[in-house]
This record gives sequence, C-alpha cells and structure tokens, in this order.
Amino acid sequence: MTLLRKSDRPLLIAHPRPDGDAIGSTLALRLALVAVGKHPLVACVDPLPANLAYLPGADSFLQEVPEDVDIDLVVAIDMSDLKRTGGIYRESWRERYPLLVIDHHETNAAFGDVNLILPHAAATAMPMTDVIVGLGVAAQDEIATCLLVGLLTDTRGLRTETTTPEVLRAVGELIESGGDYHGVMQRTLDFVPYRTMRAWGVALDRLRLEDSMAWTTLSRSLKEELQIDDHYDLDLGNLLSRVAEAQVTAAFIEMRDGTIKVSMRSRPGYNVATVADALGGGGHKAAAGCTVDGPLETAVNRVLNLLREVVREPVDPVTSVP
Ligand code: AMP
Ligand code: MN
Ligand code: MN
Repeated sequence: MTLLRKSDRPLLIAHPRPDGDAIGSTLALRLALVAVGKHPLVACVDPLPANLAYLPGADSFLQEVPEDVDIDLVVAIDMSDLKRTGGIYRESWRERYPLLVIDHHETNAAFGDVNLILPHAAATAMPMTDVIVGLGVAAQDEIATCLLVGLLTDTRGLRTETTTPEVLRAVGELIESGGDYHGVMQRTLDFVPYRTMRAWGVALDRLRLEDSMAWTTLSRSLKEELQIDDHYDLDLGNLLSRVAEAQVTAAFIEMRDGTIKVSMRSRPGYNVATVADALGGGGHKAAAGCTVDGPLETAVNRVLNLLREVVREPVDPVTSVP
C-alpha cells in the first residue's frame, strides 16, 4: 500500500487474453487511483473482449508501452509470473521502478518487491478490494461494478468451490454499494459473441471422453475458418468443465505460431495446477493453463498422459478446499 501511496504514475498491467478478473481488478484500481489524484496507466498486450469493453476506463488500455515511459511503479495484476505481462514488462525497469504484485494464484512465486497474494481467494478482486479500501477509497459504484466483474467471472457466476460465504458477503456489499450485478451478468457473463458460440459448436462436435477426461481441440485452420483470432479467449475451458462424466477437462487451442494453449479444469478433489506448473504455466487446483509446443496431437498426448495421473491420484478432498 505504501508503494501505491508514494507513487504518482503507476503502470498497471493485466495478463494477455485478458479475463474479467484481470480487467475488472485493474480498472477498479485505476479508478481508485484517479479518485485520489494519481495518474495511472493501464496496459494489456491484447485487446479487450467484447464482454469487457463496456467497463469504465476500458478504452484507456495501452497495448504497447515504450521502454522510456514516464512511470514510477509497476503493478502486475492477476498473474503468477512476469512472463504473463506478455512482454510489456521490461527487464531494465527492474532497478528503476518497484514492482508490486496483486494476485490470487497458488502458483505465484511472489516475484514482486512487494506481494499482495491471497492464494485461496476466489479472484484478484478480493485482495484488490482491500487495496482500494486501504487507499481510503470506497469500493462503490463503478469501482464496485469492476470488482464484481472479477468475482463473478473467476467464480463462473458464483459456482466454483472458491465461492465461500466471504465471497458471497463481498458480492452483497458491492451490490449494496452501487455495483451493477445484473448488468455484469447481462453484459459480461451472458454475452457470448455469435462467432464464439459457433466456435463452441465446432469444438463441442469434436469433444472426446475417456477415463474421466473430456477434451477437445481447435486447430489453426478451423480457427481461421471461424475467424477466431489468437488473442481471443474462447472460454472453452469453462464450457468443458461442465461435462458430467469428467473429473478433469482440457481444451487445446492451436495458435498461429504453432504453439498450443491448454486450458484445464477439474472437479473438487483433483488438482490440475500441478500439470500446468510442470508445463511452464500456472493457475489454481480447479482451473489452470499453459502454452506448450505443437503439433496439436503431440500436445494432446503429452497433457492427457499427465492428466491421467491426476485422475488416478485424487488429492485429499478436505485439503483441496481452497
Ligand atoms: P484459462 O484456462 O486460460 O482460463 O486459465 C485458467 C487459469 O490458469 C487462470 O487463473 C490463468 O491465469 C492461469 N493460466 C492460464 N494460462 C497460463 C499460463 N500460460 N501461465 C500461467 N498461468 C496461466
Ligand atoms: Mn485471470
Ligand atoms: Mn483471477
């Protein structure tokens, strides 16, 4: 908090293929900093998806930040390592500006000079609320809406195991403080572009189920046909997570450079974060991801082999509760 209080021009960075928590938490902090007279910049290498573009401040995101930008602090938000800034962070900044990390990933190695990491929190929006209140700003109105976006997206509409009474109380308080809960439901959660819905159709048509694992793939050529860009997060991982017969699920999406983005989910008692971590990615027990080398078929075999182990050895359901 001291770092933020001392700073006048902090740079807030959200991760690539940004989700509601990364964008909602970043924009909430931006609004709070503006409210106390500071001049924050916000950055994300990828454009915002349509279901987040309506948020206050959404149009202020920079996709590129020059190395000699006039800043005095860097804040990494909702990410477990510096690679996840997508190249926005420059190594030369290391000795020039302090680095503050605000996050909730269990795989976060506390890579900042100061780290506000709540590893079991449902979303970065939870520690972010504390940060904002700590700055002396009320988490109300537009700020409350941005924080709700983080909580409602990372909990998939309050249905994940991380949805504790504390989270439900936080959501209730944010609504009482003027946060637009139904607006977020309509404009973010129930807002799937036609192109995405069609891509889901193609991906679901290719859905496989074996040994309590459900998975699907989307190749470069199919994505081109469907006009789906790389920076576009299809949210396929969350869709697959609902397959009744599956304990773990994986969506494999081929990128233009031939790498494969893997999006994994698991039911309570199973931990996919270890697999993501082993493959250079990160995440949570129930939702984790990584990017691995292609071709698609090799990536599928490699990841399914690891997931088979996960299914074979469930973690203690008691200790798995985040
Ligand atoms: P996704 O499947 O992309 O929705 O991501 C699920 C979770 O894993 C999120 O908490 C992400 O932040 C995390 N995650 C996804 N991909 C990566 C990656 N390449 N490196 C680190 N964490 C990741
Ligand atoms: Mn995220
Ligand atoms: Mn998050």
